Amino acid sequence: MSADLRTPRVAIIGAGMSGVGMAAKLKMAGIESFHLYEQWTGFGGTWQANTYPGLSCDVPSRYYQYTFAPNPDWSHVFSPGREIWEYINKVADDYGLRERTSFSTKVLDAEWLTDHWKLRSDDGREEDYDFIVTAAGGLVHTRKPDISGLDSFAGAAFHSAEWDHSVPLEDRRIGVIGTGSTGMQITRALAPVAGHYELYQRTPQWVFPLGNRRYSRLTRWVLRRFPALNMVLYRAHQRALEGSFATAPVNDGFWRWFIQALCRLNLRLIRDPELRRRFTPKDEPMCKRLVIGSGFYKLFERPNVELVDAGIDHVEPRGIVTTDGQLHELDVIVLATGFNAHDFVRPVELIGPDGLRLSQVWDEEPFAYRSVALPGFPNVLMLIGPHSPFGNQSLFAISENQQDFALQLIDEWRRGALDAIAPTMEATERFNRELHDAAKDTVWASGCKSWYIGKDGLPHAFPWVPERHRELLRAREPEDWEQIPVGSASA
Ligand code: NAP
Repeated sequence: MSADLRTPRVAIIGAGMSGVGMAAKLKMAGIESFHLYEQWTGFGGTWQANTYPGLSCDVPSRYYQYTFAPNPDWSHVFSPGREIWEYINKVADDYGLRERTSFSTKVLDAEWLTDHWKLRSDDGREEDYDFIVTAAGGLVHTRKPDISGLDSFAGAAFHSAEWDHSVPLEDRRIGVIGTGSTGMQITRALAPVAGHYELYQRTPQWVFPLGNRRYSRLTRWVLRRFPALNMVLYRAHQRALEGSFATAPVNDGFWRWFIQALCRLNLRLIRDPELRRRFTPKDEPMCKRLVIGSGFYKLFERPNVELVDAGIDHVEPRGIVTTDGQLHELDVIVLATGFNAHDFVRPVELIGPDGLRLSQVWDEEPFAYRSVALPGFPNVLMLIGPHSPFGNQSLFAISENQQDFALQLIDEWRRGALDAIAPTMEATERFNRELHDAAKDTVWASGCKSWYIGKDGLPHAFPWVPERHRELLRAREPEDWEQIPVGSASA
C-alpha cells in the first residue's frame, strides 16, 4: 500500500450478505482496518435467521451471488436457504472475516465527535471509526400479529423467522397464518407431511408458476473446470431477470402483461370454481411482492389441506377461532406474517453533528439519497437502505452496486480528497421528489396493501429499472454532496 494513503477505520453493522460483501471488497482494495458487528451468532443475516421448512430463494442462484465469488456448485436453479447460508459463510471465511467480526453483539449507537464516529456496542465496547456502513438488512424485524389470546395457545406458536426446530411437525395439526412468499414456501413443505394443514389467508396473493431444476454433476464439473463460464451465466441471468421481473413492476409493457397473464392462467389450474374464487386476488399481479413457485394450488386438492379465509377472531388454548365462530384445533401455529420492512438500521441510533438523531430524522418515514446516504450524517453509507430496488430481483447485485459506491467514497477519504461528507438536503429532497413522482406509475401503486408502501401511502421502493440504480451510483456527483466541517461535534 502506498505510504501516503490514510487508513480509514470502517465499522460495518451487520454480517449478512451485504456486510460480508462490503468487508470482502474492502479487503480486495487493501483496506484491513474494518470491523463487523453482528447481532446473531453467525454470518448470513436473513439466511442465518430464517430456517423454516421449504426455505429457498426465488431469485436464480447464478445471479443471487457475489460477482467476485461465483459458485459453480449451486445444487438448483433456485437453491435452498441452507446452501445460500453456507455460501455466505464460505465467502466470509475465504476472506478471513471471522476474526474481524463481533458476533452476538448489538450496536447501540454511534455519535459524531468532531471528526469521527464513536460507536458503542452492547458488549460494553466503544470504538472510533471514520466510516459507518449500515448493512443491517431490510427484512429483520418480525411483524407479529396482535391476535387476542395468542399467548394462551397450548401448542407451539412461533414466527417463521424464529422457527422452533424442537417442535415435531409430522402428522401434526398445523396452522400457518400468512400467504406471502414465506407462507407459500412453508405450505409446499409442510402440507404433504402434516396430519392436517390449514393456511390462513387474509388477502389472496397472485402466484407466478415457476418450477425448480437440479443442476447435474456434469454441469457442476464443467463450471469448476472452466470458471470463466460462471460469469457468463451470471450476466445471462442478470440480463434475463432485469429485462423481465425487475422491469415489469416499473414499466407497463410486454413483461408486465406476460407475467400478469401467467399468474391469471396459473389460477385457472384450480379446478374447483369455489376454491378458485376464494384464491382470486382483487389487486393486480405484482402490486404485492410476487409470490413465485409451482405446485401450490394443487396441494389444496389433498384431503388434509384446507384454506381458511374466514377472519381470525381470537386464539384459545386449543386453537384458532375464526369470525364464523368455528374452533380450528391445532398443535402448531406458524406466523408467516412478514416483517416491519421500514425499520431500516433500527434500533441503532446515530447522533450526527449538532445532535441530529436518526430516530428523529426518520420519525415519519425512512428516506435516503439514492438509497445509500443521508444528509446530516457524515461518512455514513447504507446497504439495502430506504428506496433500494426491492422486488423480484437479486439483492446481492443491488448491494454490490451500493458497496462499490461506498468504496469510492472511502477511497476518496483514503487519498485525502475528503474528510467528512454527506449528501445535501436539497439533492436528497430532489431525489425523493423524483422517486415519488415515478412511484405513482408503478404497479405497486395500483391499489393494494404491501410492505413497499410507506406511512404516506406511497411506494418507497426504487421505481426505475436496475440500470438506473447503477447509473445513479456510478460516480459521486460533487454538487450533490457537502463537506461537513470537521470539528462539528454532536451537541
Ligand atoms: P409478507 O409478504 O409481508 O406476507 C405476510 C402475510 O401475512 C400476508 O399474507 C399478510 O396478509 C399476512 N398477515 C399479516 N398479518 C396478519 C394478520 N394479523 N392476520 C392474518 N394475516 C396476516 O411476508 P413474507 O411472506 O414473510 O415475505 C416477506 C418478504 O420476504 C417477501 O416479500 C420477500 O421479499 C421476502 N421473501 C423472499 C423469499 C424468496 O424466496 N426470495 C422467500 C420468502 C420471503 P395481508 O396481505 O392481508 O397483509
